[in-house]
Parts: sequence; structure tokens; C-alpha cells
Amino acid sequence: MADWIKFLGTAGARFVVSRQLRSSAGTWCRLQGLNILIDPGPGTLTRCFASRPKLDPAELDAVILTHRHLDHSTDVNVIIEAMTQGTFHQRGALFAPADAVMQDEPVVFRHTRASVERLELLEAGKEYDLGPLSFATPLRHRHPVETYGLRFNLPGGCVSFIIDTAYFPGLADPYHGSDVLVINTVFYDAPPARHIQHLDMEGARALITAIKPRLAVLTHFGLTMLHHKPYLAVQDLAEETGIRVIAARDGMTLDLDQVLGID
Ligand SMILES: [Zn+2]
Ligand SMILES: [Zn+2]
Repeated sequence: MADWIKFLGTAGARFVVSRQLRSSAGTWCRLQGLNILIDPGPGTLTRCFASRPKLDPAELDAVILTHRHLDHSTDVNVIIEAMTQGTFHQRGALFAPADAVMQDEPVVFRHTRASVERLELLEAGKEYDLGPLSFATPLRHRHPVETYGLRFNLPGGCVSFIIDTAYFPGLADPYHGSDVLVINTVFYDAPPARHIQHLDMEGARALITAIKPRLAVLTHFGLTMLHHKPYLAVQDLAEETGIRVIAARDGMTLDLDQVLGID
């Protein structure tokens, strides 16, 4: 298993996070020999070391922060300290939106920011070279703070993460051609108010139908998704769309070689 994704946590939104009904740790990707951590929410450092086999943040090559919300960023400083051996050894890359690092209340502190070898601000339509692979942030999502989804281009296929966003026409287009599609699905039914910009099952269904990935993975569950039991909800979705859909579980490892059909 050369390339894989481990969902250290699958909690989305504040009630599931506050009560730790699911873990709010981030997503660790092992891609083309690189270790990349996406959105280190609360508990990420602990979950890395509790993993079997252990995941050591000192071996990270990059941290990607998709947006500054706490469920995505709480552990970012302590993870960067670990990646840079206490900030004493400048190494690794940090990718983050401008409002996460430069606002009057940045979530990434100045001293940790200074310890990475490469700091890149995420922008809509930009592609980032990571040596054996690249990733893009094709568009800005509709979410209360500056937020981007991710599209990884790997030799064997394309893996995309549709991070927190309201559904809107045109959201699917830049993710076309994704073989694996990870969708942050916070709500089962429509969000209770328009200003709550998150995807629900209807939005996930629309994205899966339009993009037609080989595999869709739902994660980042809020309370209503947990009440409907994600593993049951995805069964309906798979039947309706004719596409393989699974619900992420805390600690679940996705073998990308297997999904992409690589030996
Ligand atoms: Zn979130
Ligand atoms: Zn958010």
C-alpha cells in the first residue's frame, strides 16, 4: 500500500466536536512518498501517536489548512512545532489562506509560521508543486471564512476533497475527473438557516451525480448525520447514484492503490 489516506477524525461542526462524539483530528495522506496532513483540528497530535502504526508529525512534509475554523485548525501550531522539531529545525511546508495567517487574530502563530521552510497562501485557481505530485485549490468555497477545496493530481488518478461549503451551481465543475471524492457532509437535511454554509445529503448527491467518481467518501459529520447513521445514509446514496459511496469512520485508512487499481 504505497498511497493511502487515514481519516484520524470524522467530526464536523461544533456540537459533534465539542462533545467528541467523533474525533476532530485531521486527515493524514501518504502520497507518492510524502506525508501531508490536512486540517489538524482538536486532538490531531494525540490521534497521530495513538494510531497503529504510529504517525509521527516529525515526518510530515506539508500541512494544509483549508480554512481557519477551529475544527480544522486548533492543533496547527503544535503540529508545526512537531514537524520542525520544536521550531528549531526549519523544514516542511504550510499552505493556508491569507486570513488564517495574516489577520489581526491569526490561527497560525508568528513563531510557528517562521519555522516552516515554505509558506504558501492558498488562492483560487492556483496549483502547488510538491515534487512527485501537485495539488490545486480550484475555487473559493462558500463558507463564512476564506475556504478552499483540494484537488490532488497523482500519477494514478485524481483525489479531491470538497471541504466545508454551501452547495451552489458550478461547485462540481472544477472537481470533474476526480477518481476519489471526499465530501464534508455536515447536515442530513438542509441546514436550518441560509447563513449556515454547509453541505447536506442533497448537495452530496448532486456532486456525486455530476462528478461520477469511482469512489465517494462522506465525512465531517454533524449531529443530524450521526442520528441518521452515516453508514445507512450512504447505502441509499449508492443505490440512487449507482456509485460506490462509503461513510468515513474515525481511524479508517483508505488504500488508494486499491481504489485506483494500481498494483
Ligand atoms: Zn468544518
Ligand atoms: Zn468551516
